[in-house]
Amino acid sequence: MQSGMSPLHPKRQLVIAVDGPAGAGKSTVARRVADRLGLEYLDTGAMYRALALKALRRGVDLRDEEQLAELLATSDIAVASRAGGAVRVFLDGEDVSDAIRAPEVNAAVSQVAGFAKVRAGMVTRQRALARAGGVVVDGRDIGTEVLPDADVKFFLTASLKARARRRWEELRAQGFSIELDAVEEEIAHRDRLDAGRAVGPLRRAPDAILIDTTDVAVDAVVEELLRFCRLRVCE
Ligand code: C5P
Repeated sequence: MQSGMSPLHPKRQLVIAVDGPAGAGKSTVARRVADRLGLEYLDTGAMYRALALKALRRGVDLRDEEQLAELLATSDIAVASRAGGAVRVFLDGEDVSDAIRAPEVNAAVSQVAGFAKVRAGMVTRQRALARAGGVVVDGRDIGTEVLPDADVKFFLTASLKARARRRWEELRAQGFSIELDAVEEEIAHRDRLDAGRAVGPLRRAPDAILIDTTDVAVDAVVEELLRFCRLRVCE
């Protein structure tokens, strides 16, 4: 089989799903795996973040499912990944890549993502973006809902402490001043909402490979995923 081709759909390129809780290292790892395999990278969390940002800016009631779904239907959300570069996120043409990482968005996003109508709109967009294949997609429900027939599925996890520390370091590097305890609380709260919702909850697909990244360096995690991907392609 030609390298990078899907064993399920030999004419289509690989589709790789990476799910897991906040701060497990999904986006860093997924982006690097995509670069190494010459695939696109799709950060679905960034799409939910962009919608949450727009709702906050417009003063939309975050408990109003209809208004949020309407806001999504009338929003242009584009996520661009350049090989080796950072993901850029555009909301109605504006580059919001930094704004969507702000603590206010962290605090609001899981509430926005909890509504069935919002999720339905997002899932339709995400499937359309992944249709051609050749993509690594990261999120919470990729292996279970968005792309259940992905060629390779991973579920990345790590201890709450390790995840909080990573997110805290990221936020500080971006110039946000915030306490480690506050980040830990925020992540634990988001995990509870993400795992507890009725639609598209954070859940490991039965056929997803579980990888605990607590004490493992990013490089080693990337190599581990690549090993599984190669095995899958060679099957
Ligand atoms: O991955 P990230 O932490 O940026 O995701 C932000 C939030 O977006 C998550 O906490 C979750 O509420 C939501 N999300 C989701 N489904 C996805 C991706 C993200 O509900 N596929």
